Amino acid sequence: MAGAVGGGRGCVTLRGAQIRDLLDSKHNVLFDCDGVIWNGEAAVTGAPEVVSLLKQRGKRVFFVTNNCTRPRENYVQKFSRLGFTDVAEEEIFSSAYCSAAYLRDVARLQGKVFVIGCSGVMKELQDAGVPVLEEDEAADREPGISIYNYPLDPDVKAVLVGYDENFTFMKLAKASCYLMNSECLFLATDPDPWHPLRGGRITPGSGSLTAALETASSRKATVIGKPSRFMFECIASQFDLDPDRSLMVGDRLETDILFGSNCGLSTVLTLTGVSTLEEAHRYRDSEEPGQKDCVPDYVVESVADFLEALEE
Ligand SMILES: [Mg+2]
Repeated sequence: MAGAVGGGRGCVTLRGAQIRDLLDSKHNVLFDCDGVIWNGEAAVTGAPEVVSLLKQRGKRVFFVTNNCTRPRENYVQKFSRLGFTDVAEEEIFSSAYCSAAYLRDVARLQGKVFVIGCSGVMKELQDAGVPVLEEDEAADREPGISIYNYPLDPDVKAVLVGYDENFTFMKLAKASCYLMNSECLFLATDPDPWHPLRGGRITPGSGSLTAALETASSRKATVIGKPSRFMFECIASQFDLDPDRSLMVGDRLETDILFGSNCGLSTVLTLTGVSTLEEAHRYRDSEEPGQKDCVPDYVVESVADFLEALEE
């Protein structure tokens, strides 16, 4: 596993020439977005230049994000707004896009999908031509309608759970009922438990909603986003990607770094986001099975540390 590269040491802090050597040995660089190249609406200092310079050096750059709240076309606008001038839609792989691709290309869904999610998920499903159950929430509030008698659509053949700020007990109840049918697929866009907000606040992530539904249905969701391998397979199905020549750069050990390990990629942890060096060391020093896969091969303070190696 890539997480154990370097005799199982991992967590090697990279500087100067070491960064250049690493980048020289790779052809593809996969970046997580939140906490790596930007934080909310602010680009990480130097990140736009790093992306441009990597491309000028002939590297292929991809963005792999578990954030399902916006479709790819909106991501292009965000990249542009934050100063990333040369990012194309085809380089962006979000959990919403990959979920739609899974339902269309892998599951070949014959029927509708019931969605707990947001507009980003809906738009990607629509673009992929995956039929979505149109929910009439006003009808659910009509007198006499309750959890005992709401209508269920027999054409629903999949349930997809993502980030949903309008999550309700009724949605949970309906999804649970659809999942009583063992033929009904159960997918989650991503397992992220929570996301940081400003001022020390957090917001529950898709993983917390998935956990509720897993409990209610006594089933386990198939996770599409990181750390599942599917996002890498999704990229590899469109671009010729050699894992040995690919680098994963992320800020969250349990998703980004584990994803890299699962896919056989070299991994770099940046310290501009969620996970800390201390947490990485805890995984490194743990004796529990599987924990080593969350250990990054390398650590940098920020992707801006790549700049010097690229500017020479
Ligand atoms: Mg992140």
